[in-house]
Amino acid sequence: MSTIFSQIVAGDIPARVVYEDETTFAFLDANPLAPGHTLVIPRDEYERLNDVPDDVAADLYATIHRLVPVVEDAVDADATTVAFNNGEAAGQEVPHVHCHIVPRFDGDGGGPIHAVAG
Ligand code: 5GP
Repeated sequence: MSTIFSQIVAGDIPARVVYEDETTFAFLDANPLAPGHTLVIPRDEYERLNDVPDDVAADLYATIHRLVPVVEDAVDADATTVAFNNGEAAGQEVPHVHCHIVPRFDGDGGGPIHAVAG
């Protein structure tokens, strides 16, 4: 049984796709914490960060690095919270590594987000 995110990558579940390349994929979160809340994932399924091979981890970071300013510009954000919930106890609900890029705005009152989504 593949994860819901693998089903999104396969096109079996619709999503607002933001970016894709050979190893990574990004799409808008269905329950955004802020407008433009984006999830970045490896195409292949790895449950936790330490399961991700080095080459894929490098590609994943490169995509995050590339998309942070794009997301900020798209919604005119002042900053972003960039976070992984790594493991169930940390609030990870989907067992497919994903990075949250959450746009932040001056005075949004959120402070540091200790628990992203979940
Ligand atoms: P986690 O709590 O695992 O760190 O975050 C999972 C995220 O995936 C949540 O923010 C949730 O809103 C998002 N999500 C769950 N199911 C779907 C879906 O089917 N489509 C999209 N676009 N996002 C989803």
